[in-house]
Amino acid sequence: MNLVNDKDIVKQYFNSTGFDRWQRIYGDGKVNKVQLDIRTGHQQTVDTVIKWLEADGNLRGLCVCDAGCGVGSLSIPLAEAGAIVCASDISEKMVAEAYERATAVPGKLYNISFAAQDLEALSGKFDTVICLDVLIHYPQSKVADMIAHLSSIAQSRLILSFAPKTLALTALKKFGELFPGPSKTTRAYQHREADIIKILESNGFVIKRTAMNSTSFYYSRLLEAVRK
Ligand code: SAM
Repeated sequence: MNLVNDKDIVKQYFNSTGFDRWQRIYGDGKVNKVQLDIRTGHQQTVDTVIKWLEADGNLRGLCVCDAGCGVGSLSIPLAEAGAIVCASDISEKMVAEAYERATAVPGKLYNISFAAQDLEALSGKFDTVICLDVLIHYPQSKVADMIAHLSSIAQSRLILSFAPKTLALTALKKFGELFPGPSKTTRAYQHREADIIKILESNGFVIKRTAMNSTSFYYSRLLEAVRK
């Protein structure tokens, strides 16, 4: 399966059953136990990124690209904190939901824009590029190009999260079942941290902060890479 097909499948999935499933997981309504566990884990990832950016003390006015923004779980709180956020996602339905959620925030958010776009087609320059839990849709052979592209639009920092290739198969299986494809377990791609770091370094970055966010069924390694 090549990436064009992979991308089509991912896009189609997040415009249909995946949209229904993930907008519920990334919401606050009733979900099953596994989904609740994943919601909790994912929120930890979002909270960690916000904590890192707040700790730097320059979040207000910071130009941020949230690539693969989903329903805006990170983009919206970042915009509320004063960042200038460009949120984009390959799925029109996910972006439309992100837009709805942003407009529901009390007091209008003027500092957030939305686009339905493949992250590898994004252009422009951003101080910080963030891409959370999207690498799970990328086979290892396509990761270097994807990170190189995000690096090319990141002026000072790139923050990425991915499912590390170390954890128990049961967790992978449960998590993988929520993703599209004929073999749902293999469709959720895990990545070796050493490979990701090597790619980031070859694009001129060094690792500044790391975190591991995990619950029973969600596990995500978070890396903050800054320009050397
Ligand atoms: N980053 C969001 C978050 O953490 O809340 C969403 C994570 S969700 C597991 C993965 C998202 O990546 C989906 O919304 C999907 O449509 C999007 N996605 C997958 N491949 C993409 C690509 N090539 N370009 C842009 N978005 C992509």
